[in-house]
Amino acid sequence: MVRSRELLSAAAASSQGINPTSAPSPGQVRVGDMSAPKKGDLSDTEKELLNAISAGNVQEASRVLGCRDVRVNCLDEYGMTPLMHAAYKGKADMCRLLLQHGADVNCNKHEHGYTALMFAGLSGKTDITWMMLDAGAETDAVNSVGRTAAQMAAFVGQHDCVTVINNFFSRKKLDYYTKPQGLETEPKLPTKLSGPLHKIIMSTNLNPVKMVMLVMDNPLLVDTEALEKCRRVMELICEKCVKQQDMNEVLAMKMHYISCILQKCSTFLKDREDKLDGLIKCLLKGRDEDGFPVYQEKFIRECIRKFPYCDATLLQQLVRSIAPVEIGNDPTAISVLTQAITGQVGFMDAEFCTTCGEKGAEKRCSICKMVIYCNQACQKLHWFTHKKACKQLQEQREKHEAEAAKRREKQTKAEEAQSMEETVAAVENLSVEQSEEVSGSVATTPDNPDDPPASHLSPASSVTAD
Ligand SMILES: [Zn+2]
Ligand SMILES: [Zn+2]
Repeated sequence: MVRSRELLSAAAASSQGINPTSAPSPGQVRVGDMSAPKKGDLSDTEKELLNAISAGNVQEASRVLGCRDVRVNCLDEYGMTPLMHAAYKGKADMCRLLLQHGADVNCNKHEHGYTALMFAGLSGKTDITWMMLDAGAETDAVNSVGRTAAQMAAFVGQHDCVTVINNFFSRKKLDYYTKPQGLETEPKLPTKLSGPLHKIIMSTNLNPVKMVMLVMDNPLLVDTEALEKCRRVMELICEKCVKQQDMNEVLAMKMHYISCILQKCSTFLKDREDKLDGLIKCLLKGRDEDGFPVYQEKFIRECIRKFPYCDATLLQQLVRSIAPVEIGNDPTAISVLTQAITGQVGFMDAEFCTTCGEKGAEKRCSICKMVIYCNQACQKLHWFTHKKACKQLQEQREKHEAEAAKRREKQTKAEEAQSMEETVAAVENLSVEQSEEVSGSVATTPDNPDDPPASHLSPASSVTAD
């Protein structure tokens, strides 16, 4: 994503004849103010740019940005840059365009110290929030009353944006560990491990099977020494998240959880002949009575319990939610952890892969039709344990379906009988009413004697439920 943005940025810059990274030549601009825009000091073209942003006209904005006397980081009277305006209005295309033209994502000249990321969070647009972070927005910048972007978004109830901010961990922050610090002769993290580790950190699917799959995806990581280095870096970042001024418990918990997974991988690589395949098997193995993966549940519970900062509010919340639950019941540890870290709710919905927890799975086991997978690879991994339960699940489903069919049939018959009875009654009633009418007393008669009374219209619709 970063790479394509930079490419686009360079292409846009060269095609428009501007260079976002260096100061333009004096002939291009009004005298003296190009390097440091002042509040409210806007050229007419810059005003046009703000108008185009406000109207959401990307084409016009793009044209204006190609003009000579436009500074992409110009400031209106409140100290808002064009990017802040676009972010606040929730216009993703506009934000992208401005970033391509070198908009400063960390400009903090706003009168109340708001940054573009804060405006993105306030807008409630997760894609824009992500875009700002990806462009290098600082998450710990605070406004004039000491609030971070995440805190401001939380304050106005934009929790999805809070999650995006709290889960974001830039590659740059990880790359810090690829350089020797202080007296170190070698870095804590070899450069070649930074990419694969970052991919694991950015995963929003916390299912341990998926995490182990991500480790296995990269041969560089399938090595005890490499895993140990990554694990130590995860613990260091976790500590940093807890000890920094604006504590980020969510990210700390995620880093700790990843470190536990890496440690487990390392143990299996050392001790087991079947290595990481063995770990996946352990994580997936279901118990005899109902196929519930006990090892996985216990492993995740243990990861949470081992979180080294016992005062953390998040840890206490997690423990409170999980401790009273008997193993095998809902909520599972992974659903509680996932919700705490990613904010994802409704985790038990049917669309998650039974093996790896990936969202959007739609391949059903053709025999029992009760479990779903991303693909055949996920199904194959699960089969060794699912095959013990598959038949039983199939029988359960068939029994359930047969019972439902029987219930439906019974109900239809009952309704038919009832409807018949009621029709007879209605007809009798009708003749009584008619005779009453004839005899001169007041009675309500249907407009058309062929229509059943209103009460007969409703019952059939609710039959299909379970
Ligand atoms: Zn899967
Ligand atoms: Zn099955």
